[in-house]
Amino acid sequence: MTTVGLPTAVPFLDLTAEHERVRPELDAAWTAVLAHGRFVGGPEVAAFEQEFGAFVGTGGCVGVGNGTDALELILAALGIGRGCEVIVPTNTFVATAEAVRAVGATPRFVDVRPGDLLVDPAAVAAAVGPRTAAVVAVHLFGQVADMPALAAVADRHGLALVEDAAQAHGARRDGVRAGAAGVAAAFSFYPGKNLGALGDGGAVTSRDADLLARVRRLADHGRDPHDRHLHRTSGRNSRLDTLQAAALRPRLRRLDVDNEARRQVVARYAERLPARCRLLDVDPRSEPVHHLAVVRVDRRDEVGAALGAAGIGWGVHYPVPCHRQPAFRTGHHAPVLPVAEAAARRILSLPCFPAMTPAQVDRVADVLAGATRDTDPPPDDGAAIRPVVTAPRSTP
Ligand SMILES: *Cc1c(COP(=O)(O)O)cnc(C)c1O
Repeated sequence: MTTVGLPTAVPFLDLTAEHERVRPELDAAWTAVLAHGRFVGGPEVAAFEQEFGAFVGTGGCVGVGNGTDALELILAALGIGRGCEVIVPTNTFVATAEAVRAVGATPRFVDVRPGDLLVDPAAVAAAVGPRTAAVVAVHLFGQVADMPALAAVADRHGLALVEDAAQAHGARRDGVRAGAAGVAAAFSFYPGKNLGALGDGGAVTSRDADLLARVRRLADHGRDPHDRHLHRTSGRNSRLDTLQAAALRPRLRRLDVDNEARRQVVARYAERLPARCRLLDVDPRSEPVHHLAVVRVDRRDEVGAALGAAGIGWGVHYPVPCHRQPAFRTGHHAPVLPVAEAAARRILSLPCFPAMTPAQVDRVADVLAGATRDTDPPPDDGAAIRPVVTAPRSTP
């Protein structure tokens, strides 16, 4: 669906450009790791954990193998397993639901809000049952979900509020970073994420030192922290490689600058896009990091074809909501989640990356202006759509 790999006028994202800007630091990092030879558990891992925990604001951070493992390890460390239900928004990458299944629990899918397509706290409240153990707030597309409202529901029912922050490195809501508002948060460093490694990587952040110690133990074969040959529990292997930690450190130092560049890209989209092609809402209390620039359009196939013909990369995140996936559709539990289902037919993700130029944004907007017609029905599914708010907040 995207045109990555082909010669394009505007790529969907440009990882080569991202890495070129930190190339000297990356080269120095490899040289250091090759010299000390500690490819698992080397000093770069502890350094990155300390720096990322400080960045998020929890202090505590454990590097793991990838974002899916991070979610699974959090749920396992919370003691969630067979017989438990975990509430998950249906509009997310399938990994959120897979992690629930992986610990033996059952995902309970709920609908999203029409304006920003983030988990609807009222739907969460309505879905709580006697077996509900946790809620996963997914900060999709780079915007933090309504954590105060979700925390109120979680507190009322004694549920663990877990964050899936895989698309929201550095995003804030009410000044609090993604990853610092729930009991624990999962991050992914998949190469295309706002903070990407040169392969797979992930992290768990939390203020709860005991929870993080359990995550670390589970991710390292249940190994006793004081005796590496003692295994009181059986865990698994999901560690952040030393080389990946070394690659992440210079990228992290640039992350706020890169996220601000993404906000500039989306601010220009908000000015230039045709009326029939509007960005999702941004809450005024929110400072998003625009992992993806998502618009809603009518006749998406035709619009996508026009973008493709012009050499512009695009995608759909996600065309099939989780509750409609064969892997998660079960006979006796196939809810109708109308907001997510309607949105899935119209959402389209535009190119958005820190090195994107104003001329590239304008090119995308021009092609879209030619591909959408004034006679198209409003692309808002009945919801009020207003322009994205992009006023950057000062960084403390
Ligand atoms: C990328 C992603 C994940 C999974 O991360 P991996 O590192 O690929 O395992 C989970 N949730 C969301 C919302 C994601 O975007």
